[in-house]
Amino acid sequence: MGGVRELLREKDHVFLDFDGPVCDVFARLPAREVADRLKRLVEPEVIASADPFDVLRFAASCGPNAANVVERQLSRFEGEAVAQVSPSPGVADVLRDWRAQGFTVTIVSNNSVDAVRAFLGLHDLAELVRGISARTTSDPARLKPEPALLDAAVKALGTSPGQCVMVGDSAADILAARAAGVASIALAKTPAKRRALAALAPDALVTDLADLRFAG
Ligand SMILES: [Mg+2]
Repeated sequence: MGGVRELLREKDHVFLDFDGPVCDVFARLPAREVADRLKRLVEPEVIASADPFDVLRFAASCGPNAANVVERQLSRFEGEAVAQVSPSPGVADVLRDWRAQGFTVTIVSNNSVDAVRAFLGLHDLAELVRGISARTTSDPARLKPEPALLDAAVKALGTSPGQCVMVGDSAADILAARAAGVASIALAKTPAKRRALAALAPDALVTDLADLRFAG
């Protein structure tokens, strides 16, 4: 893992994960509660996970109708959830710094595109972001750790994967970046996350988004 600013300087476009780096989506409306409510739409007894996205993946394995029902409700919960939380500390400063350095920023998120757009608008962050590549379908194959959202972001910018870098706090971010041919920077705020993400050999690892600022 090399110097993180050197890695960034080689790129033109930053792909930024939403849940974690930009805000803690399920801080007020807990993910476990959302997962429980989604499970009622399918077969609650067969899903042990408290992750709403695991419920969506299970629903998709049952068929497109189940997936669409769960995805629609998940989008609704995500909208409720992001309306109750604030931006992660310092994220606006980092976005402003990147803009001053000439990078474009695209939010690349498994969360619904409507929830991401609403949050950015509500907190005056929209003008700091070039684009949003986020969930628009109930198909899990279109979500990270698959590369589709990153592929779409690359295409929308008319660039190549080599000019882009993905910043995210989950294994799915690192794996999706690798699959898309995009460099990755892991954001790992806890020792457990550091161990888990370092094991995936991202191109760089930071413990705070502010470590990715150039000024100040
Ligand atoms: Mg995340």
